[in-house]
Amino acid sequence: MFKYNNNKNIILFLLCIGVSYATAHDKGKHRHSHSEVVTAEPPNWWVGMRQPYLQLIVEAPGIAATQASLTYPGVRIDSVIPGDHPDYIILHLHITSEANPGQMPLKFMISSKGKPGLLYELSYPIKARTAPSDFFRGFDASDVVCLITPDRFANGNPKNDRVEGMREQGVDRSRPYARHGGDIQGMTERLGYLKSMGFTALWPQPMLENDMPEASYHGYAITHHYRVDPRFGSLNEYIALSDSLRALNMKLIFDGVLNHIGREHRWMKAPPLNGWINQNFPLEISNHRRTVHHDPYASRGDYSRMTRGWFVESMPDLNGSHPEVARYLIQHSIWWIETLRLGGIRQDTYSYSDSSLLSEWSCRIMEEYPGMSLVGEEWSLNPLITSRWQAQPGLKRAPAGGCLGSVMDFPLQVGLVSALTAPARPDFSEGMARLYETLANDFIYQNPRKLMVFGDNHDMDRIFTQLNEDTALMYMAINYLSVVRGVPQWYYGTEILASSSHARGHHGYIRSDFPGGWKGDTVDAFTGAGLSPVQKRMQSYMSALLHWRARQPAIHYGGTLHFAPNDELYVMARTTDRSRVLLLINRSNRARTVQAADYDEVLRGQRLVQRAPEGVVVDWNDPLTLPAMTSIVLSVDP
Ligand code: CA
Repeated sequence: MFKYNNNKNIILFLLCIGVSYATAHDKGKHRHSHSEVVTAEPPNWWVGMRQPYLQLIVEAPGIAATQASLTYPGVRIDSVIPGDHPDYIILHLHITSEANPGQMPLKFMISSKGKPGLLYELSYPIKARTAPSDFFRGFDASDVVCLITPDRFANGNPKNDRVEGMREQGVDRSRPYARHGGDIQGMTERLGYLKSMGFTALWPQPMLENDMPEASYHGYAITHHYRVDPRFGSLNEYIALSDSLRALNMKLIFDGVLNHIGREHRWMKAPPLNGWINQNFPLEISNHRRTVHHDPYASRGDYSRMTRGWFVESMPDLNGSHPEVARYLIQHSIWWIETLRLGGIRQDTYSYSDSSLLSEWSCRIMEEYPGMSLVGEEWSLNPLITSRWQAQPGLKRAPAGGCLGSVMDFPLQVGLVSALTAPARPDFSEGMARLYETLANDFIYQNPRKLMVFGDNHDMDRIFTQLNEDTALMYMAINYLSVVRGVPQWYYGTEILASSSHARGHHGYIRSDFPGGWKGDTVDAFTGAGLSPVQKRMQSYMSALLHWRARQPAIHYGGTLHFAPNDELYVMARTTDRSRVLLLINRSNRARTVQAADYDEVLRGQRLVQRAPEGVVVDWNDPLTLPAMTSIVLSVDP
């Protein structure tokens, strides 16, 4: 690591540069100005936020040694922290409700031989908000989320595939960990397809700069928090994507990373303050023991290794327990919510951060945006653990101390796959009994309807692969995830039976190219050209079912009632006072005759039901026959 014990010399040197800059500028001989070498994070802020405080990290050679001043009505500098690195100064500003939007003139003075001199000037924008806090609406169970790996979906602009000066160069679609060229433009051009599939929210993996030497495509190794990776596009393109989604009545979900950064982040050589990064040399990788947050017997050492160890060697750990790091990360999320008018944040590797940061982060965002939705990735198969992170409705803090409304329902994901693939056992531990008992665990959650449910994601084998490429089981999984409580999330390509069977567990292959997203692709899943009949059927069924789901209040906010499985016949219902939905799964190898009277707790004497998604009316006065290995969804109108 660098050491900075030569501050005096650096400052003297800069004073000289400052003078020569000013002189040259006055004479108009070159275009440099001070504002070009001074940068600030966040790059702008807004008037009228509920919290009046702003942490401004200003970066320029030698700026730590300066005196900062500001004259702007309604805004004052509360306190200043000079960087431990000479190139940073941290200002804590107070923006009152009297402040007007405009450019705030910040001055950074330095004294030499008793005479003050201006070293830097920064004209800092505070803008009017484009919408009040109450405008922002997060996702909920009426939504259907599509998770996309942007590098692998569609290449809308081949010109940005290779960007001069970046560490990883070019694209190579034959290599699973190389960049493939997908980008923001590709997604924006394909929103019509996503809409036609019935998705109402888009969750792209992170698209901030990942200037890493390899595997930069996945996005989780951020090297600049306020720069869109140019291989995905520009900030304006990102904003345009959000605007286009909103015009289609769809939401944009931001994939946030609080825990770590990419190893090539400039902070690794120049952290603003000591203790910014959990350096852990000799390098210590996280012990991945996510239970330490809740375990009454956990050792302090294990907690520390979990939250302060690096996620992997290429992704160093941010010290979220440092109050300035925490402020930076919270403001970062707010800046992106405000800039992109987000409809939610999915927070990566949730429990790897310090619990104090998670608590402050989630509660601060929910304070600013009461309608926002936050979902945390807690990859635990134990609902006791996942449930600890979920806050109660009305912002009452979670037992773990935060205001996170939603967690990824990993216990349900594994329960579903296991139930569908393992043979039933007389002790109720596998088969449909497993699904039944997994859902029974909902008593532990503050709000099961807010959980995000999924069959797979970008970190595990494709659901089609997990279900051993059994199409009958796929229909069961799609029906189940479309009816069960919670916010369903689908990974792009599920609808055309994307598979990772040829290289199980390989992230590069799981995140496969969507066919038709590249010019010259022989198969085009957007138009259906080249898809097999089985793929086409799945795609059109899923689209029809998701559109049908959008009209089912019982699924969006109704209660749940299910019946103990009977020899692999399982029935689950979603109900409101007026509307009811029934899912029937027959995972046995024989046709089953189903009597309506057995489900009168739901049907309440009603016998005319509609089969989803087509709406075909079924008269259930006669017994219903469910062929072997099939499932159906029925709606019961009042
Ligand atoms: Ca591209």
